[in-house]
Amino acid sequence: MRLLQNSLLSLCFTLAMPLAAAEGPWQGKRAAVALTYDDSLNVHLDTVIPALNELELKGTFYLTIAADGFSQRMAEWRAAAADGHELGNHTLFHPCNGQGPGREWVAAERDLSTWTLGRILGNIEVANTTLQALDGKTERTFAYPCGDTLAGGESYLEAIKPLFAGARGVAPGFPSPDNAERFNLAAHVINGQSIEQLKALVDNAIAQQGLLVFLFHGVGGEHPLNLEADTHAQLLDYLHAQQHQLWVAPMVDIASALAGE
Ligand SMILES: [Zn+2]
Repeated sequence: MRLLQNSLLSLCFTLAMPLAAAEGPWQGKRAAVALTYDDSLNVHLDTVIPALNELELKGTFYLTIAADGFSQRMAEWRAAAADGHELGNHTLFHPCNGQGPGREWVAAERDLSTWTLGRILGNIEVANTTLQALDGKTERTFAYPCGDTLAGGESYLEAIKPLFAGARGVAPGFPSPDNAERFNLAAHVINGQSIEQLKALVDNAIAQQGLLVFLFHGVGGEHPLNLEADTHAQLLDYLHAQQHQLWVAPMVDIASALAGE
């Protein structure tokens, strides 16, 4: 009997060991992953959300309210929220700094360098009201259009803190819970990567016990920054298979956890 107890005990320890090895700083997992999709694209509703739902993964969709992909398909965005995806705020009009090389495409009336702090805040607040009308939620995150944080030369980062659980930036990195900038969270812009490159990002996040935020635009088309739909599906499969050591969650859950809520 004693022998049997001892073997049962050692069996329990053996079974417990892989669990202990997987413990980490992100809800007990080694790394956190957020899947974020910008600019209210039709492919997000047509391709991305069905793919996420099939694997029960939850994403964050940074919605520009004035875009046709939002205004023409509001019932579908409401359904996406009901499925557990986050409707993130990406302003009404997607204003960006129109000054400097590479920004010739920014329309004069959407040139953030000519806006005031009050104007961008009003834009963001009305976007929040619109999103709340769809999902009923008062807690969400924000993504700076083009990653620009200056309106008329003045930072609006501090001013949005009361409005959001956190905000996504555009500089890459794998922050830990201790050094994550909750209102300018690191993110990796995705454009044409191979599945091997995407898996390497995930493996890096696990090795560094960090947060990995994917920043997608087009998936299988609809935007100059694009990832092939097959590659996107392979990435989701990889994340799904790694869930024993990954916390895959919407940005609002990750930002709330960083805030200690
Ligand atoms: Zn954008």
